[in-house]
Amino acid sequence: MYDLVIRRARLADDRLVDLAVQDGKIVDVGQLADDVSAGRQLDLAGNCRLSAGWIDSHVHCYPSSPIYYDEPDLVGVASGVTSVVDAGSTGTDDVDEFYALTRRAKTNVFAFLNISRIGLLRQNELADLADIDPPTVKKSIDAYPGFIIGIKARMSSSVVGQNGIVPLVRAKQIQQENNRLPLMVHIGNNPPNLDDIADLLTRGDIITHCYNGKPNRILTPAGTLRESIQRALKRGVLLDVGHGTASFNFDVARQAIGLGILPHTISSDIYCRNRMAGPVHSLATVMSKFFSIGLSLPQVIACVTENAASALNLTHKGRLEPGYDADFTLFDLRQGPQVFADSEGQSVGGEQLLVPLAAVVAGEILLTDEGKAHHVFDL
Ligand SMILES: [Zn+2]
Repeated sequence: MYDLVIRRARLADDRLVDLAVQDGKIVDVGQLADDVSAGRQLDLAGNCRLSAGWIDSHVHCYPSSPIYYDEPDLVGVASGVTSVVDAGSTGTDDVDEFYALTRRAKTNVFAFLNISRIGLLRQNELADLADIDPPTVKKSIDAYPGFIIGIKARMSSSVVGQNGIVPLVRAKQIQQENNRLPLMVHIGNNPPNLDDIADLLTRGDIITHCYNGKPNRILTPAGTLRESIQRALKRGVLLDVGHGTASFNFDVARQAIGLGILPHTISSDIYCRNRMAGPVHSLATVMSKFFSIGLSLPQVIACVTENAASALNLTHKGRLEPGYDADFTLFDLRQGPQVFADSEGQSVGGEQLLVPLAAVVAGEILLTDEGKAHHVFDL
């Protein structure tokens, strides 16, 4: 007997599959016999879509951050997101408290540790190089394997002050000393210039805010891709959306995607203020914006499942295969006119909206508010 069986789930490519879950893991995917028994059975009758659980690779959910705070489950399971990665809200000063808090969440929470010990206590956490202390960083990384999955360096003028590119050089050294953990680098206003940042990045490093419209955008004034970014992509550097309050420009995204520069991961950079007042609202909203710029449902879903899992080394997540974690997102793809805003007040019309109905975490079904009103869950 299985713990959970979900029947006739519609995948992003429209196929219908059944899934069986035992002890928090996927044990079967395909077509199950009619007589299998399970503690709980859910027949979606093809009316509801399912994918591997959505992974938001850039959120802020340390509730005690004075500037970018939120609650893990509000940006996570309540929005259909099964895993969130906090992008540098805490450094070594606060990571113990943050870790303890996340153990009470239903959402899987992971963290990029800020290389500044103060994290997002204030906007210029890399203005004082004394706040970067590699031995303490190593101690925290060693203390929380499976929670700290990478390091974060915010490389824009307001953050680094007079330090230019130096914090990134330190970040690369820290990465070398810690088994080459993923490094996420925030870009925005210069200095330092994007070319100098990009030239330091190596395979697997993640540029977040990749479609920002600030001076450090990935396009030249002529609308071509910067040569430094071309070289970085060739080396295996990854592009992450990190929409945020000020870091997503529809024109940049449309032009870049027109050049074939697709995001590797779609993430929200969500926190309380841009969740409630926009322009982020939710990961689903950010994902839906990409339909208006030409991405298909399978492409958008891949960005928050298998692509995210591989970028973050989450080896048991992101796929619907036996042995993987039983994390799923159940959702509707609603048709109808939509208006989406970017981070610069520009609006773009769309025709499709992703509406999360449930997050399933290790086999536990957690309905969103929309899901509670949905007839497929009337059991
Ligand atoms: Zn952020």
